[in-house]
Amino acid sequence: MINNSDLLTTAEAVRLLPKAELHLHLEGSISLKTLIELAHQHHVQLPPKLHAEAVLEYRDLDEFIDVSMFAFQVIRTSEDFTRVTFEMLSHCAEHGARHVEFFFSPSSHRHLGYPQILQAICGGMRLAEQRFGITSLIIPSHNRMLGAEAGLNFLKLIESCPAPEVVGVGLEFAERNYPPELYGVLFGKAKKMGLRLTAHAGEDGPAAYVETCLTLLSCDRIDHGYHVIDDNDLMGYCKDRGVWFTCCPTTTKHTTTWKQLTSSEHAIHQMIAAGLNVTINTDDPGFFQTDLTQEYLSLGLPLETLACLALNSLEASWMPGPEKARLRELWQAEIDDIIQRHQAH
Ligand SMILES: [Zn+2]
Repeated sequence: MINNSDLLTTAEAVRLLPKAELHLHLEGSISLKTLIELAHQHHVQLPPKLHAEAVLEYRDLDEFIDVSMFAFQVIRTSEDFTRVTFEMLSHCAEHGARHVEFFFSPSSHRHLGYPQILQAICGGMRLAEQRFGITSLIIPSHNRMLGAEAGLNFLKLIESCPAPEVVGVGLEFAERNYPPELYGVLFGKAKKMGLRLTAHAGEDGPAAYVETCLTLLSCDRIDHGYHVIDDNDLMGYCKDRGVWFTCCPTTTKHTTTWKQLTSSEHAIHQMIAAGLNVTINTDDPGFFQTDLTQEYLSLGLPLETLACLALNSLEASWMPGPEKARLRELWQAEIDDIIQRHQAH
């Protein structure tokens, strides 16, 4: 028997779906409010574009990177890192995330060393887990614009400071002029260290970059990956191997030519229609002014499909297998209940 008070609108149902968030940058998660407060505190001059009431738009990936770089200037102290981590995970929990695997860019921070940053981030993670029960893992990510040599130093930092929270490494920032083959040695060494591997590819770079990430870099996941749709053979390869893609709908409006999120021509819809393993994520929710509920809703898909995408996110996560199996049963029961309460609406 379902009471009226139990009935769910689509937006409420989507918010409640248990999800894992797998493509989220700590620095890009910062809210405008916190960004402005920290800038004030550290006497950093922000560009006129970044003000409290701003509605942020970007021409392309390069302009987005220019604007988002201000986050690296204002997140400076241990307190800042703990605060931003806690706020990010609170925001995720509010939108149904139960588990988060997030990037941060060690080489792009100048004010604090890697061990201190790691400790401060872990502090924020513990606080969020105590408060919301949300679990999380860290994926330090190499800023590919700093080059391959800097990537090896980045890996040395990770090696010098082992932590169970650090589950893998990523590759981020401007893609087109920094093809993945430059980072073959870096990824080979990371793999030997037992780290999981993912890379941003096929966002504004070609399908060939996605292929190189899978074959040469041995990536476990691909972040974005949209241009995979330009290569039918590669699509078949990804489908056969069950490659996971961490897609971010709102990002595509700003950094790609796919602007209509509900169109069947949009790369994410084409990937889903082709049977690829897609997950939905927020990327840089502070700078794109979005959240996980909005990202799921933005594609205009039925709740049942969104529930499958939510379960996909658990499968694609890097948490231990037995834990995933335990959660799968719990999540499925919750999802069944949510769908029933939504249908009765
Ligand atoms: Zn990203």
